[in-house]
Amino acid sequence: MANNCLSLVIHGGAGARRGRDYSREIVHMRELVEAGRDRLKAGALALDVAEETVQALEASGLYVAGRGASPNTAGAYELDACLMDGATGRAGSVAALQGFESPIAVARAVMDWTPHVMLAGEGAARFAAAQDLAVIADAAAWFTHAGQDESNHPPGTLAHGTVGCVVRDAGGRLAAATSTGGVFGKLPGRVGDSPLIGAGAWADERVAVSCTGQGEYFIRVAAAVQIAHRMAFGGEALGPAADAVLASIRAMGGEGGLIAVDAAGNIAMPFVSAGMKRAALLPDGDIVSAAF
Ligand code: ASP
Repeated sequence: MANNCLSLVIHGGAGARRGRDYSREIVHMRELVEAGRDRLKAGALALDVAEETVQALEASGLYVAGRGASPNTAGAYELDACLMDGATGRAGSVAALQGFESPIAVARAVMDWTPHVMLAGEGAARFAAAQDLAVIADAAAWFTHAGQDESNHPPGTLAHGTVGCVVRDAGGRLAAATSTGGVFGKLPGRVGDSPLIGAGAWADERVAVSCTGQGEYFIRVAAAVQIAHRMAFGGEALGPAADAVLASIRAMGGEGGLIAVDAAGNIAMPFVSAGMKRAALLPDGDIVSAAF
């Protein structure tokens, strides 16, 4: 495999429901893979492409993140997102953010313009306002409730939806970004794995990971960083490391999936749920996509 190969993987959430047609989402994800590939070919950095791709996923309203998010039990939209740059180890995150169009843009600003990694709630919103990031003027008009027909799960189960992107650029730099509306019927203040560096996303010089699924389980096994540690300290290859983490989540009664890319450009897109909307640029230039 050429060491300047480009890899890019997108997920649109592991909440895919059997019998539903996801062709619109698949077409959209393939377009974003092509756009990201072109940006990478022009020399863009992995971190920038991961952020831009997640911004486009959020803005589409097709997924349960950004514009497609669903409200919590109090009727408020509290969104979570994070991103991490494997080349520098820098990261940014927002949790329970209200009132802004792009949670991933706020997470990027936290990384770029504060000495912190994570801002939550009111403080995150105040910071986003000070950064002049795009405000949601009218929530009723803005949110599309993309996952409404997926939210009909039995009480106590955590139906969910999220977007994410992992990238390897031509310089071998890796990056990961994740953004979510969280799980359906969540309590006010509930924060899942998606904004937690090490749980919902991770990137270092070896691997970049973005997770989706029932976040409580992904937090409890430190899913994203566990893959990195299995590779670094256990000598495991990407595929077996990712499978082992998902197997432990399934053994606990959870479900979900993840996307990952390693330093050689190998990718993994496993899931232990009914489906996971996904699309990927393979190192040989092919683009693959599927929901189940
Ligand atoms: N992991 C997200 C959360 O728990 C939901 C999802 O991925 O669908 O908030």
